Amino acid sequence: MTSPPRTILWLRGDLRLDDNPALAAAVRRGKGGCTAIFVMTPEQWKQHHWGEHRCGMMVGALNALRPRLESRGIDLRVIQGTDDLTLPKVLFDVARTLDVSEIHANREFGVNEDRRDELVTAAAGDDIDFIRHEDQTILPVREIRSGGGTPYTVFTPFKKKWLALLEEVGIPEIATTGEATRNPHLASGKLLPREVEPSSELALDSIFAPGEDEPLRRLETFLDGPILRYHEDRDPPALDGTSSLSPWLACGTISPRRILRRLVDAHGSIIDRWPQGPSTWLSELIWREFYRHVMDGIPRLSMNRPLHGWTDRVAWRNDEAGFQAWCEGQTGIGIVDAGMRQLAHTGWMHNRVRMIVAMFLTKNLLIDWRRGERFFMNQLVDGDFPSNNGGWQWAASTGTDAAPYFRIFNPDRQAERFDAEDEYIRRWVPEFGTPAAPPPMVDLKHTRVRAIEAFKTAKNQGQ
Ligand SMILES: Cc1cc2nc3c(=O)[nH]c(=O)nc-3n(C[C@H](O)[C@H](O)[C@H](O)COP(=O)(O)OP(=O)(O)OC[C@H]3O[C@@H](n4cnc5c(N)ncnc54)[C@H](O)[C@@H]3O)c2cc1C
Repeated sequence: MTSPPRTILWLRGDLRLDDNPALAAAVRRGKGGCTAIFVMTPEQWKQHHWGEHRCGMMVGALNALRPRLESRGIDLRVIQGTDDLTLPKVLFDVARTLDVSEIHANREFGVNEDRRDELVTAAAGDDIDFIRHEDQTILPVREIRSGGGTPYTVFTPFKKKWLALLEEVGIPEIATTGEATRNPHLASGKLLPREVEPSSELALDSIFAPGEDEPLRRLETFLDGPILRYHEDRDPPALDGTSSLSPWLACGTISPRRILRRLVDAHGSIIDRWPQGPSTWLSELIWREFYRHVMDGIPRLSMNRPLHGWTDRVAWRNDEAGFQAWCEGQTGIGIVDAGMRQLAHTGWMHNRVRMIVAMFLTKNLLIDWRRGERFFMNQLVDGDFPSNNGGWQWAASTGTDAAPYFRIFNPDRQAERFDAEDEYIRRWVPEFGTPAAPPPMVDLKHTRVRAIEAFKTAKNQGQ
């Protein structure tokens, strides 16, 4: 008689108990024992430009997850690794020590992530199955294709297709996890490789409490009222008009399917009948799915390349002083400085302001979007590769923005429109409007024309 399989749940960007497809499968299949593993790969995080906020959020989420998993009979082992190249050895050393036959994980988006998983598949050999599950999106966005069979690169038709697919397949089920069986090798005290506690340099004293309770609480508070005004309140950065769920979505402590379920509970399953606020908010969640769809369908986006190849000919300026002033919130443009200081102080920035500061860097300063993308990734608590890359390429007109490159935000006009009383600017730039404020470092009109010329030249060079 063959003994029941033992499994590993390999946790990555899915640090939660709730609605976790890989966890549910690992427990269901692991009748002979299920163990959760997280491999620390600090070198890889550095290569991906993850900063202390993002890493702190992840480590905090792991700490919060451990007792939850234990309450279901699952031990969590945090193993020290280095990077993705060495990861398979670390993972399979553990797997063989625990005598498992299946490793379950949720799929992630990005070329490096796919390569890592290919290495793991190759290292699995005949004795261990590596099984991946779809998790990070509400719908299987990898499979969505335009009429021509290619991935969508413009949001509106993607959204239409996404909504049609949702109607066709229905609201996705939530994955439920039963009681697990402990791996007998752990119970007998068999030693695993080194188990590490999260290093203190990665820990963060953050305003964003890690774990699964806080995002659910914020979701309920948001659904209880603010969502009904979201279509109006989402743009003024002085208001608390958005959900601020991004840090938890980024490290996977809340599932997007759980969010959709709660929306449906509140507003019914016929999305066409939803009030404007919830329906606008769903569009933002679909933007998140769209950027994952684009990243999966167009691998060069994961390799530092623009969506539109011709934009690589733009003569970006090498302006170190300008870049530093932007990073430090010292450009003399109130709304830009406010956004960059909000980022420095909290690890988070309002979406409208992200668009403004990104456009200022790439158009008015004509600095390569990749520098801004890296800086954001390093600073953000919600650093999320597809959304960050998508947002930067959108702002730089190298990506999915349907508007042409010459539609350039004027940051002062944006401030007049969305922060008419300077409330947000003064919150972060107290010297704003006083003699102590730095003068604007550039002439907005002149630099706008310079950007348009640079893009025009790059485009014409290919013709
Ligand atoms: C230059 C730039 C960089 C960005 N970098 C990131 C990033 O690293 N991580 C990240 O999560 N978002 C990023 N965004 C998208 C957006 O700014 C944030 O998701 C949003 O501000 C988070 O606030 P919230 O949770 O209150 O959003 P809400 O308005 O409440 O929206 C709900 C959720 O929808 C998703 N969402 C909302 N807007 C967008 C969008 N434009 N693109 C993709 N998803 C969206 C987020 O997951 C968000 O939590 C970036 C945008 C720009 C312009």
